[in-house]
Order: sequence, then C-alpha cells, then structure tokens
Amino acid sequence: MSEVRVLRRITDELAQASGDLDDGEATALWAAVAGLSPAEVWLRRESEAAPDVVSRFRMAVAQRKRGVPFAYVAGSVGFRTLDLKIDPRALIPRPETEGLVELVLEYGSRGPGAGSWGLVADIGTGSGCIALSLAVEGNFERVIAIEQSPAAAALARENVERIGSKTPVEIREGNLLAPLVHNTERFRAIVSNPPYVSLAEYDALDSSVRDFEPREALVSGVTGLDATRGLFAGAAPLLEPGGLLALEIDEGRADAVRALGREFGWAVDIHTDVFGCPRYALSIPGHAPGVTTSEE
Ligand code: GLN
Repeated sequence: MSEVRVLRRITDELAQASGDLDDGEATALWAAVAGLSPAEVWLRRESEAAPDVVSRFRMAVAQRKRGVPFAYVAGSVGFRTLDLKIDPRALIPRPETEGLVELVLEYGSRGPGAGSWGLVADIGTGSGCIALSLAVEGNFERVIAIEQSPAAAALARENVERIGSKTPVEIREGNLLAPLVHNTERFRAIVSNPPYVSLAEYDALDSSVRDFEPREALVSGVTGLDATRGLFAGAAPLLEPGGLLALEIDEGRADAVRALGREFGWAVDIHTDVFGCPRYALSIPGHAPGVTTSEE
C-alpha cells in the first residue's frame, strides 16, 4: 500500500479512537519515524510504504495516545536553526527560550572588538539547545555548558556530536556554577533557563508536562526561585568587565526576580517574550547591595 494510504488509514483509525491527531501532526510523525521532512512525505506519497516505517508509525501513534509529548515521540525537536535530538532525559526546548538566545546574541555582537565575542556559559543546558544555538549562530570563542543530570549531560554531548559546530562546546557536569568557580575563565555572558516553577505550580502543571518531562528541570524549591538565587549569588565574579547574566524567568515573578537581583548587587532589566510576557532578566553587576537605583 502506498505511504499516503497507510498514513491516512492509521490516522483515520486513530481519529475514530480518540479524535486528537490531525493531518499535520500525523504527517510530521510519519516524517519523523521515516527520517524524512514533511515535504518529502508528500512527494513520496505514492511510493510503497516500508513495513518497518509502518510499524514505527503505529508505535509512535500509540505513544501519542498515551499522552507522550510529540517531541519525545518524534525523537527530535526544532530550536532556532537546529534540529536537536530529544528524549525524556531533558526538558523539551520551549519557543520562549529561543528569545533568550536572541538577546544573548545581540549582546555578544555589541561587545568590544571585531573578533571573537569571548566565552559564554550556559547553566543547566539540558538538551544543549541554548549552548549549541550560541555556538552556531554567535561568534563566541568557546561555549561551556553545565548540566547537573548525568543523563541530560549525555544527551547534550550527543547533540554536540550531531550538530558539529565550528565553535567548541564543552559539556561539564555539576550543579549551577560549581564547575566554573575554581577556574580562571571569565565570561562575556552567563546564560540560563534554570528550573523556575514553584512546588505548587508544579502540581498544577498539565499532565503532559508533569508525567513525562524531568521534574528537576522544572521545579526550583517552594518559591521557584532557588536556582535563580544561586545564579545571582555566584555569577558576578565569573563575568568579565561588561559581562551579562541572562536568565529566563517565570512570567509571574518579574518583580520578585528584580528584587532578588538587587539584593545580590545586580542592575536587572526585564524583557518580554514573543507572547508579550515578562520572560527574561538581563543583569549586570550594577550597584552595591542594599543601594536602590532608579527604575530601569
Ligand atoms: N516554561 C517552562 C514550562 O512550561 C518552565 C521552564 C523552566 O522551569 N525553566 O513548563
């Protein structure tokens, strides 16, 4: 039977069973299990469907019916210019995080000198999405990516292999800034999408997130601010003069993050994401702790 007929038949079966897999998603899933682009699926629609692809597609559909997120079923995810390997070892990259990369690229390009932008660190790299985007799109000399979970660090290393960027990306295992503090490296930027969900918010998260994505990539203590506090507490001495700390934050905690940053001596600037939500805190070591500055 032709690919398109098999795809339609299985999709129809599924539509009858649960009604929640649309044509676009079915085609994307077929593309993922066949190792094709969705456009190629269409171009090959009259060719014979390979039995192994059909069985992989059935398995993928069954996983989707159990609620497994699309990216985990497909095994890959698009992030900015990259096609990254993804599985439950790491959080699925979110579109908001693409905006964090954009801000860091802008900052890097405005730095002194026409050559390299210097070193950049990505704290809690997960799949490696931020680190690898900065390596591929930026002009940094080197990217150091830190990850506490050995499983996520292994996935990040697989993505470093897969992408093969010209700028070296080094994955180091450890908690937050710990793998950086005993070195002499100084960074143009330290960037992080840390866990920032509070305990109560975690319990209220959609089960598609809670049941499948790593809890430690999401929850950060009772208030959701533990990791953010740790970064504000330790990042300043690791930055070169003029260096930037760029954090993704919870949209409901911009004021709390600003106050926390000030407590640790940072001037904090909040930026909104594509959805118009306050999502990023860009900070520079700005004023002595306890001294109030004017509103940014
Ligand atoms: N925005 C993420 C969520 O949906 C949270 C990511 C994070 O904690 N860094 O679930």
